Amino acid sequence: MDGRTSPPTAEKIHVHHVWEAKRRIAGIVQKTPLTYSDPLSETAGIPVYLKQEQLHPVHAFKIRGAANAILRLSDEERSRGITTFSTGNHGLAVAYVCRRLNIPAVICLSSRVPRAKTETLHRLGARLEIVGTSQDDAENRCRQLEREEGLTLVPPFDDPWVIAGQGTIGLELLEELPELRSVLVPLSGGGLLSGLALALKSNLPRVSIIGISMERSAVMLESLKAGKPVKLDESDTYADSLLGGLGACNHWTYSLVRRWMDAAIQVPEDAIAAGIAFLYRHHRIIAEGAAAVGVGAVLTGRLPEPKGPVVIPVTGSNINPDRFTQAILSSPE
Ligand SMILES: *Cc1c(COP(=O)(O)O)cnc(C)c1O
Repeated sequence: MDGRTSPPTAEKIHVHHVWEAKRRIAGIVQKTPLTYSDPLSETAGIPVYLKQEQLHPVHAFKIRGAANAILRLSDEERSRGITTFSTGNHGLAVAYVCRRLNIPAVICLSSRVPRAKTETLHRLGARLEIVGTSQDDAENRCRQLEREEGLTLVPPFDDPWVIAGQGTIGLELLEELPELRSVLVPLSGGGLLSGLALALKSNLPRVSIIGISMERSAVMLESLKAGKPVKLDESDTYADSLLGGLGACNHWTYSLVRRWMDAAIQVPEDAIAAGIAFLYRHHRIIAEGAAAVGVGAVLTGRLPEPKGPVVIPVTGSNINPDRFTQAILSSPE
């Protein structure tokens, strides 16, 4: 804690935690461009903007939450080292921030995480623990390291500091496009959606927050239907960064997403591939599957009653070349 405000508690995460995060991460995280998309606006019939979060050093927005969660730790906590579990991008972000701050990092991953990500983690100097085939296996190993080696755990989404960090995207949007009416948010554990909703709805209550997931293994949407966090098997998808459970006992994101998400859309694999191909062909943006679900939803006419201007955060670009090529080749021009 840096003593500026009291720490957030379940009912009391507040937009001032997001403003604080913005100041805290300013030395590590740069503002990203917001780009008007002519062809998507034409398709959707409303103005569409892309928030280019794939341009961060780790090629994903997760650097925001990781930086906020790590920078607020005490020197003592930092010196013991940090651990996390992740489908990849949060792990990359933690490894990157730890390297910048000279903190030892141990990243626990499942064997589903693509090679593009594991190679980068190695380069960033993190110790890797590859265990099992699901995010839950990786989480268990991480909690064991916390207990046995005294490492500090920085969770990938279910954490108020991480949520506040992701919310800084929303503060940038308030400055750049105060007339925005909806945001299409890729949805997995819900840290991004919670943070964005917190930042935007406190200032612009009429903004619609629309969560977008793949068709299979959409754990947050299935949990909301069931009325409690559920476990699902992970299936193969272009949107590998949206896989993973909600955590053994979810404290934050399940209830925040339930409170703030206005609508949810699920997109099939061919729509995700079309989104990847579209971003490449029209904007020369390399998007990973998770980052292309919103564009896929627009291209396949899945927005219920679109309210514009709409913002689509392009959340990351960590995709293996073979997957990327497959998406382009399977989507005719
Ligand atoms: C993590 C991630 C998401 C989803 O974020 P959550 O906070 O887990 O909902 C979306 N896109 C990319 C590229 C990600 O890495």
